[in-house]
Amino acid sequence: MTTFRDFGLADPILAALDASGYTTPTPIQAQAIPHLLQGRDLLGIAQTGTGKTAAFALPLIHRLAADPKRPAPHSCRALVLAPTRELASQIAESFVTYSGDLRLNVQVVFGGVPIGRQERALFRGVDVLVATPGRLLDLIDRGSCRLDKVEALVLDEADQMLDLGFIHALRQIAKLVPKVRQSLFFSATM
Ligand code: AMP
Repeated sequence: MTTFRDFGLADPILAALDASGYTTPTPIQAQAIPHLLQGRDLLGIAQTGTGKTAAFALPLIHRLAADPKRPAPHSCRALVLAPTRELASQIAESFVTYSGDLRLNVQVVFGGVPIGRQERALFRGVDVLVATPGRLLDLIDRGSCRLDKVEALVLDEADQMLDLGFIHALRQIAKLVPKVRQSLFFSATM
């Protein structure tokens, strides 16, 4: 049986998984993680509850840690888009949990709350930014966030995002990220 150690994930990640009590990768994790560690793009069909957050978070954390860089001001190295603030917050918490002692800077931004704190959080740049699309565009319009240093882009619940009418925002965001990047799409339906 495959274990997390078989993937060659960095030791701090393995320690964080041990601490979380994860012993065995779920099917989406076993299928996705080896491809993502090689830098490939991925289209994953997975429902919430299948372990899909770790399926993308673990290889992204590994890749960021393997190539340590100070994020550029107002920039992020990995960008995760999600349709709701609840999901965005959960994803950000998962990144923090799974990155253990690696000290990645993970921030989450969503609408309906004052923007100033989010602008300050992005000032020095972050490793991982989890965002709802509308608030991300607001931050970009205000000059508080730029996407030209994004190395990996994740669209979580892509089907729901299209249903919720985010397509216009997603098109704008897609124009701002570098053409050379890793792209990950997760959707419950196709
Ligand atoms: P998700 O599908 O990402 O929302 O994850 C669903 C739940 O499964 C979350 O509570 C995770 O903490 C948990 N989980 C994810 N991967 C594993 C794993 N390999 N072993 C045990 N629990 C897991």
